[in-house]
Amino acid sequence: MSYVFPPAEPVAVEITGRAERFPVHRIYCVGRNYAAHAREMGKDPDREPPFFFTKPAQAIVANHATIPYPSRTANLHHEIELVVAIGKGGKDIAVTAALGHVFGYAVGNDLTRRDLQNEAKDKGRPWDTAKAFDRSAPLTAIQPAPGSNYETGRIWLTVNGELRQQGDVADLLWSVPEVIAELSRLFELVPGDLIFTGTPAGVGAVRLGDRLEGGVAGLDTLVTTIA
Ligand code: MN
Repeated sequence: MSYVFPPAEPVAVEITGRAERFPVHRIYCVGRNYAAHAREMGKDPDREPPFFFTKPAQAIVANHATIPYPSRTANLHHEIELVVAIGKGGKDIAVTAALGHVFGYAVGNDLTRRDLQNEAKDKGRPWDTAKAFDRSAPLTAIQPAPGSNYETGRIWLTVNGELRQQGDVADLLWSVPEVIAELSRLFELVPGDLIFTGTPAGVGAVRLGDRLEGGVAGLDTLVTTIA
């Protein structure tokens, strides 16, 4: 096979304790999956089915990176999230079989141009420019945990050492197996897919020079500097 120009290298994420990397296929994100965050966004957190949006794999930023403040926004928000790494593909996966598709877990930040998202919501437009921009997905290494659930554990984020977001994964409106099952009815899952499972309450603005630290109990701390 020859190409008119060299194809991009695959996006690959570090795996804790392994020399091999995790090649990323797609990034799926769940919207409003913690009740307190749904309320702060002005929504009633009744159990409507989970809804999804995507980011390109190329949006991933490694842990401890410094990233520029993105263009065309004056209201960049942090959203700390538990991320599921899929190791086995499938479609129409049953809730009871969903954990068999899990490779491991990581911590991600679903960076959001909130002003563009609010405008998109007002005008009934897509969210891509608000959610899927370059460097919008800082991510830790993946902790291998094949077949296992992540049911409980503190999730938190600080900005310059000050606590901004705090919750517990036990408060997910839709659990990890439920999210995998529902997503697989919409898209055929492929090894290498990542799922950002939603953010707890406390989202807020990020400013130039801020140092963001966030984590989920048992996983690496995600550190990102905005410069
Ligand atoms: Mn999010």
